[in-house]
Amino acid sequence: NSEGIIENINKALKEHGLSKKVKVLKTGCFGFCEEGPVVKILPDNTFYVKVKPEDGERIVVEDIISEKKLTDLLYIDEKTGERVLEEKQIPFYQKQEKIALRNCGLIDPEVIEQYIEKNGYKALEKAIKYMDPVEVISTVIESGLRGRGGGGFSTGKKWEFARMAKGDVKYVVCNADEGDPGAFMDRCILEGDPHSVIEGMALCAYGIGAEKGLVYIRAEYPLSIERLRKAIIECRKKGYLGKNLFGTNFSFDIEIKYGAGAFVCGEETALINSMEGKRGEPNIKPPFPAEKGYWGKPTNVNNVETFSNIPAILFNGAKWFRGHGTEKSPGTKVFALAGKIKNVGLIEVPMGITLREVIYDIGGGIKDNKKFKAVQTGGPSGGCLTEEDLDTPIDFDNLIAKGSMMGSGGMIVMDEDDCIVSMAKFYLEFTEDESCGKCTPCRIGNTRLWEILNKITQGKGEERDLELLKELSETIKSTSLCGLGQSSPNPVLSTLAKFKDEYLAHIRDKK
Ligand code: SF4
Repeated sequence: NSEGIIENINKALKEHGLSKKVKVLKTGCFGFCEEGPVVKILPDNTFYVKVKPEDGERIVVEDIISEKKLTDLLYIDEKTGERVLEEKQIPFYQKQEKIALRNCGLIDPEVIEQYIEKNGYKALEKAIKYMDPVEVISTVIESGLRGRGGGGFSTGKKWEFARMAKGDVKYVVCNADEGDPGAFMDRCILEGDPHSVIEGMALCAYGIGAEKGLVYIRAEYPLSIERLRKAIIECRKKGYLGKNLFGTNFSFDIEIKYGAGAFVCGEETALINSMEGKRGEPNIKPPFPAEKGYWGKPTNVNNVETFSNIPAILFNGAKWFRGHGTEKSPGTKVFALAGKIKNVGLIEVPMGITLREVIYDIGGGIKDNKKFKAVQTGGPSGGCLTEEDLDTPIDFDNLIAKGSMMGSGGMIVMDEDDCIVSMAKFYLEFTEDESCGKCTPCRIGNTRLWEILNKITQGKGEERDLELLKELSETIKSTSLCGLGQSSPNPVLSTLAKFKDEYLAHIRDKK
């Protein structure tokens, strides 16, 4: 559809002799999947939604030539029933704050000059020319940025460990192996603004003393790969990657490594094993990658979203970053909003926003005006949150306190028709499938958990199964080797705690 729209707009511009006056930019994701494809006309900021290829000619003739708005393509505000002209008038965007996604939807990700126009590579130049590597790391520590891949560990502290580690060669690795069901945050950042990730990696390399970076990306993300590859080539041509950057003695370059789509390869040590051509299995930690990582050398691993925040922090300063979000979780978080929600899409919100604001103000509420039942945050490693959690400010610590977790940013909303036991079973099926099999509690335990859940959903369960589910879940959590196993029973435990009646209904009503 989008390709067809671009083609038709360009065709009409040509026919009307406007090709040189009006430029069509092919941008990354605007986030508003529910209302896409979207066309934004500048400088008026007109925001057209649900555009079809056949609207291309009309947009040129009516909007651009006759300066009239195509009202049928404007977004209708559900509350007022009125059509609104600009993005900022649309409730979906009003509570969002964009740092990681700052350029997505605004620039052509395949044209490096457009990233440069948005202050791209200025933070890198400033750091390399005028800052000591320790100062770069201190700024990241002061900003309070916590790893957006799910762990929430201080990014600056992690860099400090890699900097302090002894080694003649060090590596920077970007984890782009996003694999949670329903999550597409990293993919959209790479598709919409790959240079922000490259610049973030280069800043990290300067800070820790690395000359080589690797992006581990799942091969199922062809567009992300293509745009990243083009961005790397452009960077080399412009001198942002390669030898002696900005005339200094700092050199840095990036290589892309492809993952075959195993969820466990999102775990740092499994990812490194996979990059070395070994089986993608986690190792026992310590040693941590900061000390002994890729080919046994000190390695710093962060995910895509974490890196995309870095240039903005170095450019604007730690204090500026702390002006967003909460004291303990500064900044913003990108979420993939999915499930039974009216506005499915990609959002970036300040930490501290409540789930209610995300689901009702940004998400527009529940599809078909059904009743909200629960929201799963943190994907298969997270837990479900219910009505009573809706006013909880979202940050790393609050979600854990409520029995879930931030994870990398998947947020799946369920309504009154969804069976919570089947949902837990779905996630277990996923983790059972994705378990690498290295340790027994995860390999066998998750299979047993799934079997019990399957029995219950088939109406063949017994009440004592609930005790068994709990006991087995606790054992898997406390005895598994890596985060996958340690968190895989979370969907079972959180649904058992909050929806025990639904489990009992399956058992007692034998359905
Ligand atoms: Fe593999 Fe699961 Fe053990 Fe992790 S917990 S090492 S995924 S078997």
